[in-house]
Amino acid sequence: MEKKDLDWGNLGFAYMPTSYSYVCNYKDGAWEEGGLTADHTITLSECAGILHYCQEIFEGLKAYTTENGDIVCFRPDLNATRMADSAERLVMPPFPEDKFVEAVKMVVEANKEWVPPYGSGATLYVRPFMFASGEVIGVKPASEYQFRILVTPVGPYFKGGDTAITVTIADYDRAAPRGTGNIKAGLNYAMSLYPYEQAHKNGFAENIYLDSATHTYVEETGGANVLLVDKNGALVVPKSPTILPSITRRSLMVVAKDYLGMEVIERPVKFEEITNGDFVECGLCGTAAVISPVGHIKAEGVDVTFPDGAEHSGPVMAKLRQTLTDIQACKIEGPEGWVCKIC
Ligand SMILES: *Cc1c(COP(=O)(O)O)cnc(C)c1O
Repeated sequence: MEKKDLDWGNLGFAYMPTSYSYVCNYKDGAWEEGGLTADHTITLSECAGILHYCQEIFEGLKAYTTENGDIVCFRPDLNATRMADSAERLVMPPFPEDKFVEAVKMVVEANKEWVPPYGSGATLYVRPFMFASGEVIGVKPASEYQFRILVTPVGPYFKGGDTAITVTIADYDRAAPRGTGNIKAGLNYAMSLYPYEQAHKNGFAENIYLDSATHTYVEETGGANVLLVDKNGALVVPKSPTILPSITRRSLMVVAKDYLGMEVIERPVKFEEITNGDFVECGLCGTAAVISPVGHIKAEGVDVTFPDGAEHSGPVMAKLRQTLTDIQACKIEGPEGWVCKIC
């Protein structure tokens, strides 16, 4: 198999059409068979539900090449389950979870020339998504949907080494109590773009959102969960029903406990604890970056430095990231079922 002639080490995080996408339609109360398509466009009714009432959910995972040349992905069963949970909340028909994993494998294998080679640092980003394709004008759930998976090669997240970022505290709210913060839906992102642009204009890499009800607890950023290390070396993870359950975060909690012997505490975390200087390291975690180290948090009246990771990843974040990426690369054996062989 010939790989595509791409400059793998210098890819950015941008969309590039590949050979195939996967598509499956839901109609008359059932999912069709589904399969690959070389058409990377979608034709929709102007009255499709997605365009009016925003029934759309998505997932994100990566496929990559291990040292022995296998193409694998990481815990796709958790993406399948999370997507089914997201679907339920937006009254969309869940895509069958076993069919989801099969579809991921099918579309990655069909695009294997596009899977970056081992050692390049690049990966094939896999983006499953589902939207209301059926027509609706009165407010109600649509009766037709499309599930689709696009794949696109993306570059290594850390190009210029592992520099700690400075983040700010958002002036806006991300997720209402009992709202949709715990599902992966485009609507949660649409309204985060304005505060995101504002943060950028002010020189910050990201926004951390506090809980919408009281603005006293730490939630997450627009697209990554927060990790903290306390003075005793324990991994502390904010807990709230409006945080999106990151697969990277859940995996890192297992790595910390079972591989690194750390204490792992998942609990509500007051922002005050951070401003009091109770934590020595901070990171943001998600599929793309695994962990982005946070060196500082600055906002009006707030100026926090994480002493063990002010410039670069602190020792705990570095160790966590290394261990998880070693498991992903099959350099060390991960828990059963984490690395899923495709071909
Ligand atoms: C996708 C996402 C994450 C990260 O989840 P992973 O499964 O680790 O990629 C975190 N927060 C939000 C809001 C997200 O949408």
